[in-house]
Amino acid sequence: MKIKVPFFDLSQQLNSIKEEIQLAIEEVYETGQFILGPQVLTLEHTIASYCETRYGVGVASGSDALLLSLMAIGVGVGDEVILPPFTFFATAGSVSRSGATPIFVDIEPETYNIDPEKIEEKITPRTKAILPVHLFGQCAEMEAILQISKRHHLWVIEDAAQAIGAEYCPNEDAPRRRAGSMGHLGCLSFYPTKNLGAFGDGGMVVTSDPELAERIRLLRTHGSHPKYYHKWIGVNSRLDTIQAAILLAKFKYLDQWTQARQRRAERYQELFRELIQSGVEIGLPKIRHHNRHIFNQYVIRVPKRDRLRKFLMEEGIGTDIYYPLPLHLQECYSFLNHRPGDFPVSEKAAQEVLALPIFPELTEEQQFMVVDRIRAFYKR
Ligand SMILES: *Cc1c(COP(=O)(O)O)cnc(C)c1O
Repeated sequence: MKIKVPFFDLSQQLNSIKEEIQLAIEEVYETGQFILGPQVLTLEHTIASYCETRYGVGVASGSDALLLSLMAIGVGVGDEVILPPFTFFATAGSVSRSGATPIFVDIEPETYNIDPEKIEEKITPRTKAILPVHLFGQCAEMEAILQISKRHHLWVIEDAAQAIGAEYCPNEDAPRRRAGSMGHLGCLSFYPTKNLGAFGDGGMVVTSDPELAERIRLLRTHGSHPKYYHKWIGVNSRLDTIQAAILLAKFKYLDQWTQARQRRAERYQELFRELIQSGVEIGLPKIRHHNRHIFNQYVIRVPKRDRLRKFLMEEGIGTDIYYPLPLHLQECYSFLNHRPGDFPVSEKAAQEVLALPIFPELTEEQQFMVVDRIRAFYKR
């Protein structure tokens, strides 16, 4: 019998905590405070402390966390923000929504994160901020990025949407620093497929700067303070109380679930060893330094990627591609006049990456199946 392996499956996890979630929803039902109820505040404290920051501000999505962060530091028309082109669209989309221009900088081939060595050549008098992305759950090279930002007086906003609880640690003697706590602002997403996912959209900005935290609090309710008096033009972007209640119920398990993802990543690593030794060129995820990689995604690089993906689909194994087209080549950014070849490392990654199933309930048998079928494809 063929074992099916879904790319992602939440059902087991949700069943295991069904009563706790129902109870959390009941409570919101009772209090009736659907907008910015007490659970939002509790979650903000909980997540801020988990990220080792002083403040958390719940917003409607990870994308809005990015947009509100850019608005809070005053980025707008005529400004430039530096970011990698190999990321989810929201990273660049939020820059454009703020009115600023996204300035792309290529990635490092090993980690898929922005290459700090290529940042300085893109800095101009208009540059306001650097927006590194901690892709797939591993932090970007923050030490180098923070040094550059200090040298040029730039803001740093971390896109930690895929990296809640990830840690950056450049060497054994250095302190471990949590994703979201290293820049001026950190942006989290509670989209259902993230390590901590809601029952819909949700996000949070974390920061240790009281003024920035306050500004984001105002901006998420149309910039009003007091009510009906508007100092800034904000937006309507709040984290629903019901989502906060669900997230609080799930938060208790976050580290346990992340450890389960890490164990599954290690298991893939072992299962692939033999195949790689036999000469198949599979690039496995690499953990830099002493980082804590939270494996929101387990992404490998492979030759003949599209054919492998089709083969796996026929074998009942789900995979996905993050991301098939780098942002500088997207139709909506044609006005930036980029050409294929502008960011070769990102373009090559877009052709070779394949995300394999990884979630806490993935079984050993299923992982064995995934690797066995990949072996079958290359040994045909
Ligand atoms: C998920 C994600 C976002 C946006 O989060 P939403 O909550 O879906 O708006 C931003 N950046 C990256 C890298 C993401 O993976």
